[in-house]
Amino acid sequence: MFVSKSLDVNNLGHLTVGGLDAVALAERYGTPLYVMDEDLIRENCRAFKQSIDRYYDGRGLCTYASKAFCCKAVCRIAQEEGLGLDVVSSGELYTALQAGFPMERVYFHGNNKTPAELTMALESGVGQIVVDNLEELQLIGSLSRAAGRETDILFRIKPGIDAHTHDFIRTGQIDSKFGLALENGEAMEAVDEAMAMKGVRLKGLHCHIGSQIFDIAPFELAAEVMIRFMGEIQRRYGKTLEILDLGGGFGIKYVDSDNPSSYDEYMQRVSKVIHRCCGEEGLPIPYVVIEPGRSIVGPAGTTLYTVGSVKEIKNVRTYVAIDGGMTDNPRYALYQAAYDLLVANRAAEPKTQTVTVAGKCCESGDLIQENARIQEVGPGDILAVLATGAYNYSMASNYNRIPRPPVVMVSQGESRLVVRRESLEDLLRNDL
Ligand SMILES: *Cc1c(COP(=O)(O)O)cnc(C)c1O
Repeated sequence: MFVSKSLDVNNLGHLTVGGLDAVALAERYGTPLYVMDEDLIRENCRAFKQSIDRYYDGRGLCTYASKAFCCKAVCRIAQEEGLGLDVVSSGELYTALQAGFPMERVYFHGNNKTPAELTMALESGVGQIVVDNLEELQLIGSLSRAAGRETDILFRIKPGIDAHTHDFIRTGQIDSKFGLALENGEAMEAVDEAMAMKGVRLKGLHCHIGSQIFDIAPFELAAEVMIRFMGEIQRRYGKTLEILDLGGGFGIKYVDSDNPSSYDEYMQRVSKVIHRCCGEEGLPIPYVVIEPGRSIVGPAGTTLYTVGSVKEIKNVRTYVAIDGGMTDNPRYALYQAAYDLLVANRAAEPKTQTVTVAGKCCESGDLIQENARIQEVGPGDILAVLATGAYNYSMASNYNRIPRPPVVMVSQGESRLVVRRESLEDLLRNDL
């Protein structure tokens, strides 16, 4: 019935998240409110980890791409579930450090890491740095030599795969700001430099072909391209790279028409390609890393709002205004992301009307969804937007000086605050 298994309806006709009444949660913590089903997050972590263990004999790692939703609580969950962690900035790294995340399981990504960020990564003992470009390679080399150490690196490769997803979130093809291209020799040039360089140890290769991908074929193709390149490196240098990091990008169900493949099927089919290609190239099976973000936290999140005004513009549309907007969920404004939504206090009723849900920001594009089917709705109702666990809180802003909502986790019938609501004082903390 719902896009996420976290959701149900109770005998009051209210939406439940992780078994708890959403209307009661909204009353207790206020709105807007992000609710995350911790049990579902853990279940997703385990599903990925188990399929890695199954298809690679335990020689692999699922790292959580923390940019999807980064806070101390989620870093601790990833740690407890035995995952690694991807970070792309000093802020995400700092969060991981403060959460006590083991640094050897951290992968540091990003297409323009600053010298200060790289220094922080080296000083904190980050396990692997995924190098995006030649300038960064030089920088890491010199910082490492100055510190008298050797740094484990991977190269981010553009495997040149079009994953048929939205242009804004497609990052695998040659016209991308991320990584080193294969076809123009850039990637091999980087390998040549790294092999000759003191201060770095080239451990492996990385790619990430996009996001919200439903098909398995592009992942299979990317894995093949990467193994072929590993074979080339082997023949050129007699050096076997140990790590193959295949990135994230697994699609989730936002609306009924979305039909993502199962992670286990993905893992099985990609591992077949890896085994076959490694055989053909005469390579041992590498240590395989995957980096799911959205698929770990996305389905676990629900955002709750209180409806304010409802504006029916005859023969045009009906605007339902909520007490949040693009400040807590900019994904519709950014790329017309589809969401399923419903009236949490009337969750058992049929959806009888089509509305546009608008936020409270001073932008006409501040919409959460257009042409959304929804139950009868009026002022004071609690509106729920589903599958908002990824790229919502992490993309939130303070536009119009709107404080960011809190995050509540529910687990085994209990709720707890994991990120406080920003206060008005918080908004002024850096004003002088
Ligand atoms: C964004 C990103 C991920 C996670 O992508 P999802 O689509 O959320 O799974 C993983 N790895 C890298 C390098 C990324 O940039």
